[in-house]
Amino acid sequence: MGEETDATLRERLVTAGGHLTRQRCAVYSYLRRARQHPTAEEVYLGVKKEMPRISLATVYKNLEALVNCGLATKVTAGDGAARYDIRTDHHYHSRCLKCGWMVDLDPEAEGALPELVRVPSNFEVSQYRIEVLGFCSDCREG
Ligand SMILES: [Zn+2]
Ligand SMILES: [Zn+2]
Repeated sequence: MGEETDATLRERLVTAGGHLTRQRCAVYSYLRRARQHPTAEEVYLGVKKEMPRISLATVYKNLEALVNCGLATKVTAGDGAARYDIRTDHHYHSRCLKCGWMVDLDPEAEGALPELVRVPSNFEVSQYRIEVLGFCSDCREG
């Protein structure tokens, strides 16, 4: 993790009343590098490679601390599993129905509500969620 990121992370954690610990740093940096949105368990397995003694409970606690500081978001998908996302802006996801693999949708898919959705004329939209479901390349093969 670069020095700038380290400083930003420290500043935001301290502002939110948290601390920058080695574990928290490792959890944050794993989340930044992750190619998809991992579950707490996946983060645990990844971070454990660098810190063999870290526990799932510690990883979970640190993930929640990052969410509370606004450094990550917790995404609860349709399958009920909580996943962690380094992006904190409003955006949408695609999710594999078999393994739960979750990635951001293309930025072009964001913005206005797609025309394929017909909203009743007497209904005022305040927000909406889009989740694209299907099968990732790994799950399509076997
Ligand atoms: Zn899959
Ligand atoms: Zn995302």
